[in-house]
Amino acid sequence: MITISPRLRNRYVAFTFFCLFFFVALHFLAIKLLNFAPAFSPLLFPLLTSFLAVFHLFIACFMVMKYWCDKKRIYHLAIAFAFTGSTVLLLATLTCFPVWLMQPGMPHVNYSGAMIFFMMRNVMMAVLFTLAGVLFIFRHSPLTRLMRHLIFAGLLVFTLTMVTVAWFYSGHSELFPLDLINNTTRQFTALWKQIINGALIILWLIALTTLLIITRLRNLFWASGTFLCTCYVIILITLLPADFIGGSVWYSARLFETTASLLIILTLLHDVFSLYRNSHIKYQQSYQNSIRDALTRLYNRSYFYESLNQALGKITDSHPVSVIVCDLDYFKRINDNYGHLQGDKVLQFVANLLMDSVRPQDITARIGGEEFVLLLSNTHSEAARLVAERIRLSLSSFDRITTEGMLPESVTISMGIYTATTLPVTAEECVERADKAMYEAKETGRNRVVVYQENKALRGKAFHDVSRGFATR
Ligand code: GH3
Ligand code: MG
Ligand code: MG
Repeated sequence: MITISPRLRNRYVAFTFFCLFFFVALHFLAIKLLNFAPAFSPLLFPLLTSFLAVFHLFIACFMVMKYWCDKKRIYHLAIAFAFTGSTVLLLATLTCFPVWLMQPGMPHVNYSGAMIFFMMRNVMMAVLFTLAGVLFIFRHSPLTRLMRHLIFAGLLVFTLTMVTVAWFYSGHSELFPLDLINNTTRQFTALWKQIINGALIILWLIALTTLLIITRLRNLFWASGTFLCTCYVIILITLLPADFIGGSVWYSARLFETTASLLIILTLLHDVFSLYRNSHIKYQQSYQNSIRDALTRLYNRSYFYESLNQALGKITDSHPVSVIVCDLDYFKRINDNYGHLQGDKVLQFVANLLMDSVRPQDITARIGGEEFVLLLSNTHSEAARLVAERIRLSLSSFDRITTEGMLPESVTISMGIYTATTLPVTAEECVERADKAMYEAKETGRNRVVVYQENKALRGKAFHDVSRGFATR
């Protein structure tokens, strides 16, 4: 027994209601349109045919591009052929109305020819849609190049055959006479009424059932494709009682077809834009991953150096750049006593604190295990020192309770500052000097800020310990 999940059932129910609403609304629209513009009516059919041809060409191009982007999805090719063939047959249909643009009276209209094109178009599209549904099953199976070429050749031969047969039968060759309509009385022949109309309904019902079962309306694209199949079934059913060509049934049939095609176009456009949006989001995510550290989400070393190089290109005396290198004190002990996971939490806590302590335009990066660096643009040495002091004091004020376990105990940090005011100085030199100042802070007792002093060569004199008075250890 076939079981349908409630989700799928709801989808089918929603689809049925949408179809009902759409067809009733469009039926009334068609009636209104014909009442409203009777003088326009003789032109309406060729006009709608032209619109439909353009829409189908548009869909065919889209489907070819979709296939070209992902050749595993061979079912796109079947739909591309369905719409390409349909475009050709629709353009051929216009030849049955030779003077429709010049003369609204339309003499010598080949109604039977137009109907033969309609019939062949329906056969071709129903078969290709069914085939697309079947090929959809194999979307995950790898198809060899040869198989893809064979399927392509098969689809091409089938479509060309249908177009050629339609051309000959539509009255362009004396050898193949076939009448679906009496061109003088405009009456449908018995062949159409008793056999072809019903056969076409069966063909479209097969296509519709195949798509409903296989694709399960899983996305907007398949929902709109299935909707088109439903549309053709309804069109052909409404044609069943018609004795003559023309009248509201005939026009609303083409209006249905045009609107359903428009719906497919909208779906395809929606697909394109959601693809664009998704790929843009993915690009942003992978770009962020490439410039950020995975554990702390701070910027990584290479992004920091890139930003520092850029900032150094713009420095002047009045617009200096400050670099602050920070290293946690006795961090190994945290790992040893509480484990690496807890150590990681400490790093994340410190990273957040650093990020929250600077301006949005400043760069906060992790350049080593528990080594961080801040890049403060347009910041003098004194201002950078104040920022560093604020961070140092803030960090040392937290403990296990105030951080809800993020810090297992109080943690301190040593910081070295270097401010570049004049060129030439490289990014590596800036970091090296700030690093030296940081090591000076370590060596002179930790939990302090040291500013690198320019023009003092001797070690120990090259630094200015600014936080000795604040040191807590
Ligand atoms: P000092 O005050 O001299 O800096 O002492 P310290 O213990 O902090 O010494 P050091 O800077 O050499 O120690 C760095 C430690 O950081 C060593 C390593 O186990 C740890 N570490 C590095 N990367 C990570 C990480 O991603 N996660 C964790 N949990 N620990 C890390
Ligand atoms: Mg350390
Ligand atoms: Mg270290």
